Amino acid sequence: MALLVQKYGGTSVGSIERIDAVAEKVSKFRDNGDDVVVVVSAMSGETNRLTMLAQEIMEQPTPREMDVLLSTGEQVTIALLCMALEKRGYGAHSFTGGQVRILTDNSHTKARIREIDNTRMHAQLEQGNVVVVAGFQGVDDNGNITTLGRGGSDTTAVALAAALEADECQIYTDVKGVYTTDPRVVEDAKLLETITFEEMLELASLGAKVLQIRSVEFAGKYKVPLRVLSTFEEGSGTLITLEEETDMEDPAIAGIAFERDEAKLTVAGVPDVPGIAYKVIGPVSDAGIEVDVIVQNVAADGSNDITFTVKRAESDRAKEILDTVATSLQAQEVILDKKICKVSLVGVGMRSHAGIASKMFKALADESINIEIITTSEIKISVVIEEKYLELAVRALHSAFELGETESEKVSE
Ligand code: ADP
Ligand code: ASP
Ligand code: MG
Repeated sequence: MALLVQKYGGTSVGSIERIDAVAEKVSKFRDNGDDVVVVVSAMSGETNRLTMLAQEIMEQPTPREMDVLLSTGEQVTIALLCMALEKRGYGAHSFTGGQVRILTDNSHTKARIREIDNTRMHAQLEQGNVVVVAGFQGVDDNGNITTLGRGGSDTTAVALAAALEADECQIYTDVKGVYTTDPRVVEDAKLLETITFEEMLELASLGAKVLQIRSVEFAGKYKVPLRVLSTFEEGSGTLITLEEETDMEDPAIAGIAFERDEAKLTVAGVPDVPGIAYKVIGPVSDAGIEVDVIVQNVAADGSNDITFTVKRAESDRAKEILDTVATSLQAQEVILDKKICKVSLVGVGMRSHAGIASKMFKALADESINIEIITTSEIKISVVIEEKYLELAVRALHSAFELGETESEKVSE
């Protein structure tokens, strides 16, 4: 008997049949005596559909109204899942984020959870009911509906698990767990039995959307046992572990992440003087645009270029800001390239293995892939390359670092 928080993603609740199947799955845990709090996403495609509706009205809808709109997707699924449980004879009670009192700050569309009141959930569990909570949403101090950013239902689940001190937070999704890379891009990607929080945090922040990064941060901070597993297939999935020590036995690389929706901006010919990076990047950050990889390159003739990446969706806005900055700094030009992507190797084992970077660069060179920017940290190496090479690069690196399943592993499955 345990207290479990289970989250079912969009594909897992993508049709009435699938919602029925989730109810069936949850009912088995109840039969086993477990207390279950379920967090659900909107049906797959629904959040995108709602976003497109808003954009038919205006290009930049107000964030507050976007949240009122987007939160409706999850409200549909909590009700349907409760009905499917009740049909089976199980008590169930739905809550929107506001009804639980998932209190957030007021940063609409990317709110952060501040506090969760667990009393109403406990009261329902004590009555023997399954608690079904809408993911991705909360409420601010003034009662406004907020949402937690795309993929935010993962964070709702982990936050509820922390607030309830659950025995485990289980993220049920459409793949069997966390793989060495996206199994939709590399067919022989290997399912990982465990991965450290540190590695999962890097993978999530570098584009592996299997878990929203905030959910991993939350789980690490509150020591929530977190597992990713399949809604559709049996298996114990991947456990995110707290192991902090690394040793020579660790594989150098845990996984490969990639980010498609990036763009690169170069401000060419700016003066090489103190404060110049701030003058270029500052106005972009001040506009709320997140700046990612940054390089400054001073050539032998003293000419200075500053290059950085931003999310593709924000790149036109960033370019407009930079055009103004460039005029005031008398820079040569601002160049925007939207056809780039970022591929990253992640592994705590990098700390104790040398030569990872050169092996990475060789694997890309062998495929004639040009590297535009390189950035490293203790446990990751990222390269920015042309977008058209993304799949080729990920597959080449996956095989160069022998991350795939060996023949014997394939047979034993
Ligand atoms: P959900 O709707 O259940 O939240 P998501 O689409 O947000 O599901 O996340 C699951 C998807 O993440 C998988 O279908 C897979 O394509 C993708 N993914 C990317 N990187 C990885 C990885 N390293 N391991 C597993 N899945 C990954
Ligand atoms: N429905 C939201 C989204 O599509 C939240 C989630 O599914 O986690 O991003
Ligand atoms: Mg998701």
